Amino acid sequence: MTKGALLYSGKAKTVYLSEKPDELIVSFRDDITAFDGGKKDQLSGKGASNAKVSAFLFQLLEEAGIKTHLIRMEDPTTMRVRRLTMVPLEVIVRNRAAGSIVRNYPFTEGQVFDTPIVVTDYKDDTRHDPMINDDIIIALGLLTRNEIAIIKEAALKINSVLKAFFENIGLDLVDFKVEFGRCGDDILLGDEISMDSMRLWERGTMKSMDKDVYRFGKGDVMETYTAVLNRICKE
Ligand code: 5GP
Repeated sequence: MTKGALLYSGKAKTVYLSEKPDELIVSFRDDITAFDGGKKDQLSGKGASNAKVSAFLFQLLEEAGIKTHLIRMEDPTTMRVRRLTMVPLEVIVRNRAAGSIVRNYPFTEGQVFDTPIVVTDYKDDTRHDPMINDDIIIALGLLTRNEIAIIKEAALKINSVLKAFFENIGLDLVDFKVEFGRCGDDILLGDEISMDSMRLWERGTMKSMDKDVYRFGKGDVMETYTAVLNRICKE
């Protein structure tokens, strides 16, 4: 593997060029942040744990016919991916009410949605990732109406696959965030899917098994992330 020039450094991952123009190298770091970077820490092993979960879930989704940027893992914290032009949107799917939807609307924590709810946030920390609607996405020139439909359909398919998978290992997929990017004429799933970007509750107890443990000081974060990783890898 040739790790080329630094392309971008985010809050938990660093992206490098590779020896091939259409492939990038993503390094999952041990950093963890919350509240737009207002809370920050380093947790040994967190990068490897998120990378492994992400690679596993991308593979699971590929098998279900969803195209992702994953090419292969190069080492425990390094993923080789297809180069995408990322769309600056966070596509969030919610099966149960938690987090911002409970703060912003009169839902009860844990309320089950009969139909999953898809929302889009505009990815911009300086503006605190505001919720964005289809007309604004189109006015900003981020996606066409048809591409919005494609992305929302993909997000719901991802939800069906992941929800069933997690149910099988005793976890409720409460919500998650995904990001997409363009690759030629295609739109592929990019970024990561990990305990940083999903809410997972232990079935029956509603105990958080995700980044809420870090956000709200609910327990040992690495113990939680490792427990999820172990359940996933037993599959
Ligand atoms: P909420 O809108 O309730 O804060 O988040 C909904 C879901 O999307 C949660 O699973 C949360 O972890 C994920 N999510 C929302 N914004 C971000 C973000 O900026 N980064 C990451 N990694 N996940 C996010």
